[in-house]
Amino acid sequence: MTLNRRTFAIISHPDAGKTTLTEKLLLQGGAIHLAGEVKARGQARRARSDWMKIEQQRGISVTSSVMTFQKDGIVFNLLDTPGHEDFSEDTYRTLTAVDSAIMVIDAAKGIEPQTRKLFEVCRLRSVPIITFVNKVDREGRAAFETIDEVADALALDVCPMNWPVGMGGEFEGLYDFNSGRLSQPSGDSKAFEGKTSDHEGLDAATLEEVLTPAGVNRLREEAELAQAGYSDFDLTAFQNGDLTPVYFGSALKEFGVIELINAIAAYAPPPRPQPSSKGNIDPSEKEVTGFIFKVQANMDPQHRDRIAFMRLCSGTFKRGMKLTPSGLGKPVAIHSPILFFAQDREIADSAEPGDIIGIPNHGTLRVGDTLSERNDVRFTGLPNFAPEILRRVVLRDPTKTKQLRKALDDLSEEGVIQVFYPEIGSNWVIGVVGQLQLDVLISRLEAEYKVDAFLEAAPYDTARWLIGPDSALAQFVSFNGGNMAKDRDGHPVFMARSSWDVGYQQEKHPDLKFSATKER
Ligand code: GDP
Repeated sequence: MTLNRRTFAIISHPDAGKTTLTEKLLLQGGAIHLAGEVKARGQARRARSDWMKIEQQRGISVTSSVMTFQKDGIVFNLLDTPGHEDFSEDTYRTLTAVDSAIMVIDAAKGIEPQTRKLFEVCRLRSVPIITFVNKVDREGRAAFETIDEVADALALDVCPMNWPVGMGGEFEGLYDFNSGRLSQPSGDSKAFEGKTSDHEGLDAATLEEVLTPAGVNRLREEAELAQAGYSDFDLTAFQNGDLTPVYFGSALKEFGVIELINAIAAYAPPPRPQPSSKGNIDPSEKEVTGFIFKVQANMDPQHRDRIAFMRLCSGTFKRGMKLTPSGLGKPVAIHSPILFFAQDREIADSAEPGDIIGIPNHGTLRVGDTLSERNDVRFTGLPNFAPEILRRVVLRDPTKTKQLRKALDDLSEEGVIQVFYPEIGSNWVIGVVGQLQLDVLISRLEAEYKVDAFLEAAPYDTARWLIGPDSALAQFVSFNGGNMAKDRDGHPVFMARSSWDVGYQQEKHPDLKFSATKER
């Protein structure tokens, strides 16, 4: 039944309307199966109560990590990406677990920096993107301007799927090109409350009955230009990530939301084959495989337990099943998985490719791990990024070394930071790709580990993972011991004073690869 799964994320710049759209998608999706709502028996009950407790104590919404809803026989798994301005690895990894994405753009602002970064991440994996131009109920830029910007800035073919009749105060409705259906505001709130009319094309006289004369003229003029000026919808080009269908709408006023759900159902791909060490693993393969793309630790301060989020790639997962994590080598029984999709709202017992499973554990499962029944595959493509900001961690209370090490290990496993243990010297170095991660680190060290520490400048600019034959490695280390560190897995890392330094060393040591990413 993998053909009926759609696993996707929403990418946007803060304030574009991701939260509002998410709510409206869930509402329209009708049957909302959030984990906390799942009524369960037996073992499942325990998972559920753990869950509720976790949410209360941490004050964060764990359930919002994965939101599942069903409509017309399709199961939608919406994965939340953290909404910070800063690009974080957590966000990147979440995007490795989706098959498509909705890109939300504020009609007044166009493409903003975060949208672009997230888009580039999607492009790396050719993730198909549906564009939603939000807030047409407000004065925005001309629709053409936004579409052209998407096409130019992101180098994508664009295909407008619907068209706004005016914007802001002049907004009279949305016209759907395919069906000829016009959706219009009604009531005091001017929201979409189901008022629609059907028309046989843009020339239909019936349009004149429901729009102002100015509105009709405008729609005919603009829509004709739009249809002539942009690409036709091409499913293959969309699924290859070369073309984006563009929907206008208003999340707040519920315009364009149903159209978006229908578009995901009709066009977005079902679970795709996933790249692994053994070639692509097809969702239809019998053996269960999946990978961990996110770990949330310390959701319960008393227990130090954590939830690993696994994307199922093949096979049908059943509660209690034994799977072997690639990092461990021996199978573990998954007794109390959190299944986000409950078949009959009573008990969630199984999951299909494309679904996400939350696995409570005590630190055995890590981001990037593959879990499988077959124990001979490893999913690839979940890289670490070379950090752009490096800092030394200095303890105010030197007796807390052990706690600090534990904290840094935990947080690096979660993807909050990367940690490097220098071969010489005692100040550990942490690396991040965005400033915000530093603040998160300090506050979590204090709140969760009772470690009082501060950060100081490190004499390094960047880090590179070293890959190459043992002899070449040993020779390099004998000359550069002072700049060598190990990452959390014990992998050798060259701490470089500048990117020039990296180039220089690379020239001197052609046998070694100075890698800016590390595949797990
Ligand atoms: P996020 O930061 O992307 O999650 O954005 P939010 O969903 O929190 O929305 C940011 C602000 O924009 C909020 O004040 C929303 O009420 C508002 N907003 C979201 N969608 C719309 C829309 O379609 N029209 C209008 N006028 N405001 C919207």
